[in-house]
Amino acid sequence: MKVGIVGAGIAGLSAGRELQKQGHQAVLFEKSRGPGGRCATRRRGDFFWDSGATSILPRGKALEQVILEELPTDELTRITLPVATHENLRVRPGDPRRGGTRYCYQNGMNTLAKLLATGLDIRPEVSVDAIEKLGESFKIAGEIFDAVILTCPIPQTSLLLWGMNESRPIGNVRYRPCISVLLGYETPLPETHYFAVLDPEQSHPLTWLSLESNKVPGRPPTLVAQMNRTFSAREYDRADADLVSSVSTYIASLIGNAHAVPAVSDVMRWKYSQPESFADFGQVNPPGSKIILASDGLLGGHLEDAYEVGLKAARMLAL
Ligand SMILES: Cc1cc2nc3c(=O)[nH]c(=O)nc-3n(C[C@H](O)[C@H](O)[C@H](O)COP(=O)(O)OP(=O)(O)OC[C@H]3O[C@@H](n4cnc5c(N)ncnc54)[C@H](O)[C@@H]3O)c2cc1C
Repeated sequence: MKVGIVGAGIAGLSAGRELQKQGHQAVLFEKSRGPGGRCATRRRGDFFWDSGATSILPRGKALEQVILEELPTDELTRITLPVATHENLRVRPGDPRRGGTRYCYQNGMNTLAKLLATGLDIRPEVSVDAIEKLGESFKIAGEIFDAVILTCPIPQTSLLLWGMNESRPIGNVRYRPCISVLLGYETPLPETHYFAVLDPEQSHPLTWLSLESNKVPGRPPTLVAQMNRTFSAREYDRADADLVSSVSTYIASLIGNAHAVPAVSDVMRWKYSQPESFADFGQVNPPGSKIILASDGLLGGHLEDAYEVGLKAARMLAL
């Protein structure tokens, strides 16, 4: 069987690996320059940041065995410091609900995608705008496939389905936008008893701040600030410099004035960062279907869920 996979994020890479393992041919179409999607690393000179997912908390799911046993690397780092919480920028001890071992890669989270991509047939910089149905087959970017797996966030997948005259019960899936502000400094960050602070209520504009050199010792002194839904929706189109200056005020309250002004900064705008409501994989993908939806909006909004949904999609087709 030859399967066309739209998207080379963690779900697409997982589906591709599984199909190949089972002796099928998989071709991944990816609109960006490389694989990874929201498992992304942004680089600027000597600085780099995990601009999407900032760590892996595998919770015993399939991805755990993959990172520890199938694709071992010295780059994989076990994060030793916990995540603390903050209430209106006052730091509290860690939230026990968020326990478990977290991992990261020394040179950036995108290393995970690069490892998963090894040996896969990926066509970068191909944006799939339409999929043509030809009887029992499908045509993507001029190539014929027996089945397709769609891994982009549900709103983007909906457009592809619409073009094929297909509909699935996915209308309730919603994603939140997220602005990630990326900051780099000339001087080391302060030592903290946590590597990140989180606002569990997501009521403060600063929902997450991670100190990247405390997360992974040896990394340059950088911070990743993720903004909450309300702030991100309202300020989505605001100029980068304004965003950096707003965020810097919050940062000064949390870790002190010494890091109020960054040497380098960048901003990532994620229109679909993580799903807030979900559809059921089984209901969305009826048995025998040759168009399988495998988005994190069908299982859970984390890397281990994306890996899991890709596996499920591949196994369903390979039955
Ligand atoms: C700011 C942020 C912080 C996060 N923090 C964490 C965290 O700490 N831990 C965690 O586990 N998870 C986190 N997540 C969630 C995690 O990153 C995602 O759940 C996961 O990466 C989703 O993978 P995916 O393959 O389902 O989708 P994606 O990564 O979105 O992959 C889809 C791919 O499809 C491509 N694509 C889209 N449309 C097309 C098209 N028409 N043609 C071709 N290609 C297309 C995209 O370019 C993309 O590469 C975070 C996400 C964000 C944005």
